[in-house]
Amino acid sequence: MPGKEKDRPRTGGWRLGRLGRTDVLVSPSLVLMGIVLVFAAAPWFEDSSDHPHLLAAVFAVGLYASVFVHELAHVFTARWYGMEVPTVTLHLLGGETAIEGESRTAAQELVTAGSGPVASALIGLAGLVASGTSSGSAGDVLWAFGWVNVIVAAFNALPGLPLDGGRVFRALVWQVTGDQAKGVRWAAWLGRLTAVAVMAFVLLRDDAFSREHLVDIALALLIAFFLWTGAGAALRFGRRTAQVQGLSVAGLVDRTETSGLDLPPDLPSLPLDLAGAPLLRAMAARPADTYVVVDPAGDVVGLLHARHVDDAYRRNS
Ligand SMILES: [Zn+2]
Repeated sequence: MPGKEKDRPRTGGWRLGRLGRTDVLVSPSLVLMGIVLVFAAAPWFEDSSDHPHLLAAVFAVGLYASVFVHELAHVFTARWYGMEVPTVTLHLLGGETAIEGESRTAAQELVTAGSGPVASALIGLAGLVASGTSSGSAGDVLWAFGWVNVIVAAFNALPGLPLDGGRVFRALVWQVTGDQAKGVRWAAWLGRLTAVAVMAFVLLRDDAFSREHLVDIALALLIAFFLWTGAGAALRFGRRTAQVQGLSVAGLVDRTETSGLDLPPDLPSLPLDLAGAPLLRAMAARPADTYVVVDPAGDVVGLLHARHVDDAYRRNS
């Protein structure tokens, strides 16, 4: 499932527990979707069992458990690279793993994003293999469970943001062109194209508007909306990241002679080589109108005015 960018609003949810420093949340929308799933899947089990709704409930619980494993794959690979993972949220359309801090390399992005669909595909194949060795209703549930996981893997591997495949595609464009922002733009627009394709897929069928297809249209609308808004959020996040990355102490330092100035003795200092998000964090940690800039040798080279940083941030936008 897609990774949530840091600036997207946190979806509220019930806290299920904690995994190390990661909160595991469940959105109330998941319960709603669970009920829909039970009624949608029950007909699959009508031939093999007198209790199709019970089997459908087992299937739904198993599906959400496998979605959780998909998210865990993102969590553990991100942590492996030292990124913070504040929350995992299970919701209506699956799950989201919030990862703080951008991947430092395209390869890191590739592995953290790709691990989820790979986990779903492996779970799906295991389900299909197990269904072959089971009979009766257990075999049917495993068969459905296996197939849906394969579909989850395939859908998430589509190359548009905010899907995992979009993050992989963003990493590849970044790797090939050396331009991280271009990767975000291309993958986000592919995400919007995917949203349009999902709608076209259900609307351009024969008898698309017949009664039995209304549920498909509703589901496709939901997915398309999720993709379109997610791609928009990724574009905004990409722009903001580029704005922040364009800021540097070296580029904004005011190299006036400071020895003759009557500076307050307690001005906070900033190193000359500080830039991007670490610069903003350092300024937020010690808010001031003016900072003393020091070079690696510890010599004062000038001043940094907070309003110049503000102006540059706005100019970049
Ligand atoms: Zn994922």
